[in-house]
Amino acid sequence: MKDEAHPEFPAFDTMRKASRRDRLPELATRKDRLSSLRRMVVENRDEIARVIDTDFGGRPRKETELLEIVPLLNTLRNTSRHLGRWMRDERRHVAWPFQPGSAWVRHEPLGVVGIISPWNYPLLLALGPLVDVLGAGNRAMIKPSELTPGFSELLKRLVSNYFDADVVTVETGGVEVAQAFSALPFDHLIFTGSTAVGRKVMQAAAANLTPVTLELGGKSPAVVAPDYPLDKAARSIVLGKFTNAGQTCIAPDYVLVPEGKAEALARQIIDRIESAYPAARSEGGYADIITARHRNRLVEAVEEAREGGATILRPSGDYGDKIAPTLVIDAPGQCLLLREEIFGPILPIVTYGSLDEALAFINRHARPLALYAFTDDRTARGTILDGAISGGVTLNGTLLHIAQDDLPFGGVGDSGIGAYHGRDGFRRMSHARSIYKPGFFNAFEVIGPPFGKLADFVIRVLGR
Ligand code: NAD
Repeated sequence: MKDEAHPEFPAFDTMRKASRRDRLPELATRKDRLSSLRRMVVENRDEIARVIDTDFGGRPRKETELLEIVPLLNTLRNTSRHLGRWMRDERRHVAWPFQPGSAWVRHEPLGVVGIISPWNYPLLLALGPLVDVLGAGNRAMIKPSELTPGFSELLKRLVSNYFDADVVTVETGGVEVAQAFSALPFDHLIFTGSTAVGRKVMQAAAANLTPVTLELGGKSPAVVAPDYPLDKAARSIVLGKFTNAGQTCIAPDYVLVPEGKAEALARQIIDRIESAYPAARSEGGYADIITARHRNRLVEAVEEAREGGATILRPSGDYGDKIAPTLVIDAPGQCLLLREEIFGPILPIVTYGSLDEALAFINRHARPLALYAFTDDRTARGTILDGAISGGVTLNGTLLHIAQDDLPFGGVGDSGIGAYHGRDGFRRMSHARSIYKPGFFNAFEVIGPPFGKLADFVIRVLGR
C-alpha cells in the first residue's frame, strides 16, 4: 500500500522517494531550510498581512503581526538556536545485567509529514508546525484552509519560490482535496482544526497506520476566584476573547464568577472593551468574522440565549457590519453558547456558589484546550488546577502559555492528541530510535542455549 503511486498528489511520491534516499539531513541543511522559511516570511510580510486582511474582510494589521508573524519568527529563532543540541544522541542508563554495554537514543526524521491547517491564524498554524517538521529533518506537504483562499494561493506560490518541490509543497482546494490529502500514507500527520473534523482525519490516517498529532478546539473556561480584582481579570479576558474577534482556539470561551459578581464583571469588561476598541468600525480596529455562515451561527446563538431569558450586553461604539463584543448573562443551560465552542466575540458569564461548583460545570464539558484561573490565593489556585484538566494553562492572564518557547502546546481528550512547539515539537516530529551495544563481554550469550546451571542462577537472581 505504501508504495502505490498517488497521481492526485504527485509531489507526495517525489517527496517520499527523496526522504528515503536522503534520510538524515544534517544540521546545516536543516538550518538552511529554516532560514529559507524566515526569508520567505520576512520578504513577503506586507503581502501576507494584506491577503489575510482581505480573506477576513478586515483584520487589523497589528493583530496579524503580533499573533502570527512575530510568534512564527520567534519560534524559528528558538529552533535554529537550539537545534544542534536537540539533535544530539542521548546517552541512557544501562542496568547491571547488561553491563558492560551502552545505550542511547538517536532522534531521527520520520520522513514526509502532512500538515492540515485552519483559517483562523492561517500563517502561524500552517508554518508553525512546519518549523518543527523541518527542524526534525522531515519534508512536508501543507493543506491550508479553503476559507482563506487568498492566503492559501499566496502560500503555495511563495513555498514554490523558496523551497524545492521535494522539501515542502502546498496543496490547495476544498474539503474533497482535504479528505484525499488526509488519506495519503504520510509518516506523520499534524492537523489543526475542529474536533469533528479531527475525528475524520484520524480515521483516514488509521487506514495507513499514520500517526497523528491533533490540535483541536473546545470550550476553554476562565475562572475568576472570589479574591481576584475584577478589573484586572477583565483586562486579561478582553485581550484573550476579543482579539481576532474571538476566533482563537485558546480564547476564553466563557467566564465563571462568584454569584453576585456577574454584573460587576460585565461592567468592567465593557469599560475595557470601550477603551481597547475605540474605533471598532474603522479599518484596522477590530476583526471581522470569516464567513457569512459563521456570522449567522453566532447571531442565531445570541438570539437563542436572549429568547431563553439571558441578558445581553454590548459596549457603545459603532461596529458597522461586524459582530460587536457581546456579553451574555444567565444564558439557559442547554443553549448553543453553553454547549458548543463559540469561536466568536460572544462571552457568556456564568456564576458559581463555590469553586467546586465551578469545577463541576467545567467537567460537564469535554476536556478543554486551555484553562485560565484568576486568583492570588494559593489554595484556590491548587483547587482549580487539581480540579479540572486542560491542554495548557495561563494563570492570571490569557493566551500567553502558547507563546512560551519551552512549553509544549497541545490539547487533551477532545481538545487534541500530542503537543508541539520547541523541543517538544522536535521530539514529536522525530523517531526516538533506541540503540544498545554490548561491551567486550555479553553475559546473555554465555548463559546459553543450551541452558544449564548458570541459566538457573540468572532466573533466580533476576526473576526475584
Ligand atoms: P476545520 O476542522 O473546519 O478545518 C480545518 C482544516 O481541515 C481545513 O484545512 C479543511 O480544509 C480541512 N478539512 C475539512 N474537512 C476535512 C475532512 N473531512 N478531512 C480532512 N480535512 C478536512 O476547522 P476550522 O473551522 O478551519 O478551524 C476552527 C477550529 O479549529 C476550531 O474548533 C478551533 O478551536 C480549532 N483550532 C485549534 C487550534 C489548536 O492549536 N488547537 C488552533 C486553531 C484552531
